Amino acid sequence: MASLDLWKTSGHFDFYKEGMFDQMEVEGAEYQLKPMNCPFHVLTFKDTPKSYRDLPLRWAELGTVYRYERSGTLNGLFRVRGFTQDDAHIFCLPEQLEDELVDVLVLFQQVLTKFGFTDYEVMLSTKPEKAVGSDDIWEKSTAALEGALKRHGWEYSVDEGGGAFYGPKIDLKIRDAIGRLWQCSTVQCDFNLPERFEIEYTTADGEKERPIMVHRAIFGSIERFFGVLIESTAGDFPFWLAPTQLRLLPVSDDFLPYCREVVAKAKAAGIRAEVDRGGRSLGKQIKLCAKEKVAVYGVVGKEEVEGSLLSLTSRKGGDLGQMTLDSALGAMVAAVMTVGQGILTGHETVDAWFGGVKAMLFAMIVLVLAWALSDVTADLNTAAYLVSILADSLPPPLVPVTVFLLSAITAFTTGTSWGTLGILMPLVVPLTWAVLGANGM
Ligand code: ZN
Repeated sequence: MASLDLWKTSGHFDFYKEGMFDQMEVEGAEYQLKPMNCPFHVLTFKDTPKSYRDLPLRWAELGTVYRYERSGTLNGLFRVRGFTQDDAHIFCLPEQLEDELVDVLVLFQQVLTKFGFTDYEVMLSTKPEKAVGSDDIWEKSTAALEGALKRHGWEYSVDEGGGAFYGPKIDLKIRDAIGRLWQCSTVQCDFNLPERFEIEYTTADGEKERPIMVHRAIFGSIERFFGVLIESTAGDFPFWLAPTQLRLLPVSDDFLPYCREVVAKAKAAGIRAEVDRGGRSLGKQIKLCAKEKVAVYGVVGKEEVEGSLLSLTSRKGGDLGQMTLDSALGAMVAAVMTVGQGILTGHETVDAWFGGVKAMLFAMIVLVLAWALSDVTADLNTAAYLVSILADSLPPPLVPVTVFLLSAITAFTTGTSWGTLGILMPLVVPLTWAVLGANGM
């Protein structure tokens, strides 16, 4: 909420009145529930004098806004009267704009990919007939938006004259699992608010200039984004998002203490785990897991308790087999940390990552030992060959990178011969596995 004066300065009171709730009187002054977060960031900018050296400034918040929508237009999570935006504003110099925009596009892609959205329709909207700001600034900004799209390698279409009156913009529609398009991320230049609030920075020559202001939101409205996500996945979320990531199904009450112990450990590791409420046959417990879209469940019997094991089944990948409690929890944590989605769909994925980590550590230990003991000439080919053998369980994209990095390190810092490594290897293999095994990997 803010004083009505703020919304008069920003122009919302004149141009956005229908979208706002009624003003209210507080101790004789008029206040307004905020329909947008932008003016607050502008005031923050204005709080202290700024120099060109302070820019770019990037401020983000999860800001809740209130907009008056007619009751007939309200629709589930898609259109509500109070919602939270992942709102951010960048204040930058004209020459910084394109780089800032590229970073924003990369961020859009990184975040949306985590949720499984990889197909976008991208639209660049240009200057409409009624607009504020000089032709020069419109041209430069539109060119920066276009340049950023090209550098990021996204196909896009142009909506000539479709920009807001205050600046050009890029809008992203995501395509969901069944081909529907949803308006989502947006990045917009704004030549209006800096002018209305008279914000400025001091240039290298001591002149005063208006900074470029950029609005960006990845989800737009968080409520709406989750509406899209639920629609798109039909509630069947990837492992990292699943409300219940692990449910334990004890075959009898005798195994409840072990289940509770596992749940406590899992929770401590950040996994959302629970024990089945009980009073049902095992068959019914399993059916309930399917109905409630539990990501992974484990049947717990005598064998599991005695061996500190878990026998897991993944909703998306089927039977994961039996593994030690530590390696099961380690795999789940790694799945959440590294991949973000589509994980625990089967043994292969998890094994590939774990195999990869092992191979990399092993290769590094070999090379460090070789470096410590070697006195012979560098042999890049031998090192590359060796590492490619060691790294054959790495996920494919990591192999050339690892080979290159380790080869380069070997070549530049050591001088390693095949003979030296041949002598070391039989010693290093059991040692490495012993170390990794002790850490539950
Ligand atoms: Zn904004």
